[in-house]
Amino acid sequence: MTSDPLVRLLADLVAIPSVNPMGRGKTGPGYSEHEVAAYVDAYLRRHGVGTRVNDVLPGRPNVTGFIDSGAEKTLLLEAHCDTVQAESMTIPPFSPELRDGRLYGRGSCDTKGSLAAFLYGVCSHLDAGGRLRCNVIVIAAADEEYQFTGARHAVAHGLKADFGIVGEPTRLRIVRAHKGVTRWRIATRGVAAHSAYPERGVNAIYAMGHVLDRLERYGNALRGSAIHPLLGPASLSTGVIEGGEAVNIVPDRCTVEVDRRTLPGETTEEVLGAVRSALEGVSGWEFDPPHLAVAGMEVPEESPVVRLLSGAIAGVCGEASVEAAQYATDAGIYNGAGIPSVVFGPGDIAQAHTAEEWIDLEDLHAAAAVVRSLISQQ
Ligand SMILES: [Zn+2]
Repeated sequence: MTSDPLVRLLADLVAIPSVNPMGRGKTGPGYSEHEVAAYVDAYLRRHGVGTRVNDVLPGRPNVTGFIDSGAEKTLLLEAHCDTVQAESMTIPPFSPELRDGRLYGRGSCDTKGSLAAFLYGVCSHLDAGGRLRCNVIVIAAADEEYQFTGARHAVAHGLKADFGIVGEPTRLRIVRAHKGVTRWRIATRGVAAHSAYPERGVNAIYAMGHVLDRLERYGNALRGSAIHPLLGPASLSTGVIEGGEAVNIVPDRCTVEVDRRTLPGETTEEVLGAVRSALEGVSGWEFDPPHLAVAGMEVPEESPVVRLLSGAIAGVCGEASVEAAQYATDAGIYNGAGIPSVVFGPGDIAQAHTAEEWIDLEDLHAAAAVVRSLISQQ
């Protein structure tokens, strides 16, 4: 299909489905990261990089490559292997197609493009006998799209690096700050009764009505408080409600699912505490423990990783820009573990998760060149 080794690498990665089951218990061919992980493992080994493959969930591994150059500092390059589902795509998701300077297919943009650029940037430099200015850890991580398990596993098992770059489609810009997210359910409990005798029961949906009123007011108040200079205010949205069995039964249970976007530095305890306070005086509710909590992050503009990466991007693209993003990434986990990490990669987040996902091949090549320049001993 192409003789370009980087495009070939990306096409191979896209052709191996690695759809995240998103907690829906889906298994079998097409789901999970193990096949793409095996490909990455073989690719790194073929280029002389020692690897480890560790399951972070059953059958769902991280691949970690380590290149010890004897340097003082260690750079982490991480990109996730999983993709979102492909059922709603209007192009063949796993038969990568080259058209108009783009590669089409699920994961091409989010984030196998970054993974390919990182792998190729490092391995082409090694193949050419180039020297490294730092040690390099490459992680192809599992389960970013759902619960960030791969990154959590890596830091829980002692990952050490001086700085990191997390691959996501940023259009080759440096994202040095992004929000985090905490999601959890709030339940109200009542007492079931025949709807002809509502006074014999306690209506959990009415109770939830009071909770929702407070949540809405709290969400509105957040808009005017603690504005982050790059990210704006934190936010809260209630996205799912469930309750009631039938219209002739007074409901004994109602739940809502809440999505709270956090600013860097806000902890899960603080977030839950503030919402509890907002519900003070309303009775009958309880919180489930959060099913997702990933921290926001902010790396200072003058931090070495921003400076070095800016220099490499400017060398390849002419200029570098630094910005902030609203979405959460694995970088929140690495920053939380003390590894200053920014987000950078080829492609545009506007194409991520879409029905005809694609990546611009010029972007892809530029990203690989940036990585190569970044790690090269000049
Ligand atoms: Zn992604």
